[in-house]
Amino acid sequence: PRAWTLAARPQGMPRSTDFAIVDLPVRDLAEGEVRVANRWLSVDPYMRGRMNDVKSYVPPFQIGAPMEGGAVGEVVESRDAGLKPGDMVQHMLGWRDEAVGPASAFHKLPLLDVPPQAFLGQFGMPGMTAYFGLLAVAEAKAGDTVFVSAAAGAVGSTVVQVAKAKGMTVIGSAGGPDKVAWVRSLGADAVIDYKAGPVAKALGEAAPKGIDVYFDNVGGDHLDAALAHARPRARFAICGMIDVYNDAKPTQLKYLARLIGNRVRMEGFIVSDHMGRAEEFYRDMGAMLAAGTLRREETVHDGLDAMPDAFLGLFSGGNTGKMLVRV
Ligand code: NDP
Repeated sequence: PRAWTLAARPQGMPRSTDFAIVDLPVRDLAEGEVRVANRWLSVDPYMRGRMNDVKSYVPPFQIGAPMEGGAVGEVVESRDAGLKPGDMVQHMLGWRDEAVGPASAFHKLPLLDVPPQAFLGQFGMPGMTAYFGLLAVAEAKAGDTVFVSAAAGAVGSTVVQVAKAKGMTVIGSAGGPDKVAWVRSLGADAVIDYKAGPVAKALGEAAPKGIDVYFDNVGGDHLDAALAHARPRARFAICGMIDVYNDAKPTQLKYLARLIGNRVRMEGFIVSDHMGRAEEFYRDMGAMLAAGTLRREETVHDGLDAMPDAFLGLFSGGNTGKMLVRV
């Protein structure tokens, strides 16, 4: 078995030399442990934060140690009564082709009629982020005008579709004409190509009466544009700020003070705050799936060796929908 380790802490955009692939020792299972052949590995923007040596809601990766992340695999050996060979499980021992650990670290896939890798995307952590960020954090409701950035990504494309299914007007933003066309095909009422011109101007044209909700995946210019067009008592769910993850310099927001006059409620959140409501998520998303209102897109790289390229592709827009690696 092999695993990717963190070779060096990146300054700015990570380079291939910041990652190193190593052989893992083969070992026998202890009582209560399982061996899992990973089939699908997730790369997610938050992993960039774990490459820094800073205190955060997840601890930093350690230099020389295997990296971690979401994964789906098949149990191939078991010394636990709860899991048997052939069971498909999800877990956090990603960035490697084989995972060994206590059975309690591996969870059987929920009973939903989607392929296993969907539990790393729309029916997993990114999907829950979209669902609870929109409905619980931003308290978005039918009739609201919702603006969502990185709308062609895993989280953003789910926000667009849940918002449409719940009767909202949706404006997305994405980079380039192909992604813009795809987000429109998901049902968005308007889509901004943020690479084609200033976001604030385009948002003003798309939402002449302003926005009630902003679902932030990007920060920077996108957050400022949303503040420029926020209606009184708008709610901002601050999900991510990918524009600054590889950036050391602070951003300057021209419209920050509009928080005050318009009583904008802006709230950061972490998806794990809402894990206790997972059943509600599977039920409601399962119903939308059955009704044919959800579409799923994946960008797949092949082989464990492709992990760093797939990960870095997140920061250059290399994915439409969920970015995945198939082992
Ligand atoms: P995505 O699938 O959206 O992939 C990232 C996308 O971001 C890229 O495809 C790219 O699309 C866009 N992007 C990259 N750099 C920039 C930039 N500088 N400016 C504008 N757009 C950019 O990733 P996820 O759906 O997994 O994550 C989306 C966001 O949600 C991230 O910020 C992530 O950190 C956050 N998140 C937060 C969680 C929480 O608990 N709070 C949980 C999960 C995710 P394009 O081609 O359109 O530029």
